[in-house]
Amino acid sequence: MNTREVQAALARLGYALVVDGAAGPKTRSALETFQRGRGLAADGIVGPQTIKALQAAIAEKAEPRTQAPPAPPSLPGFAQPRATRRIDEIIIHCTATPEGRDVSVETIRGWHIGQGWKDIGYHWVVMLDGSVKPGRPEAQVGSHVAGRNSGTLGVVYVGGVAADGKTPKDTRTPAQKAALLAHVRALIARYPTVRKVTGHNQYAAKACPSFDVRRDDLGRLV
Ligand SMILES: [Zn+2]
Repeated sequence: MNTREVQAALARLGYALVVDGAAGPKTRSALETFQRGRGLAADGIVGPQTIKALQAAIAEKAEPRTQAPPAPPSLPGFAQPRATRRIDEIIIHCTATPEGRDVSVETIRGWHIGQGWKDIGYHWVVMLDGSVKPGRPEAQVGSHVAGRNSGTLGVVYVGGVAADGKTPKDTRTPAQKAALLAHVRALIARYPTVRKVTGHNQYAAKACPSFDVRRDDLGRLV
């Protein structure tokens, strides 16, 4: 891709740029912002990864993703009081249990209490069949990401490793994917101060939730 093509791609993606073929500071800054947004090194260099990401972004724009079904009117557990602290982020997790094995909220609660916590660490649990169960009440600060619990809600899906019990794998069933998306969308509607949806692996050297939220529909909800 030459400079003009890169500028045209960025302009198409909504960056305010003049497509003049001259690589100035505006082009560089737009490119760096784009790279950062796609989880690439923000070096302003048009390498193979950046070209791939630009092409993917253009393709996504041309072909909008199918809209997830709207959130059901009454989500389980939504009768619980809203958190009064400011919630600005929703963090996604996996239970790190083998593909296909269902795990109950009570089991997870047992693990967490066993490690000395007062309750299950997550606020919501998404089962293999797409049902969503309440965990720790939203009004209470969770225990799911070291140092980032106070302004966040933790949502976990059951699964996250292959059948061998250790290899990280995005094991979400189609029902789980749809339910996770709908539930997080409903949480954003419930907490309009939410500014981002992230994954545990963005804050810790862990595989959890075994996929990159930034490259998932979940990462594009806000
Ligand atoms: Zn986690």
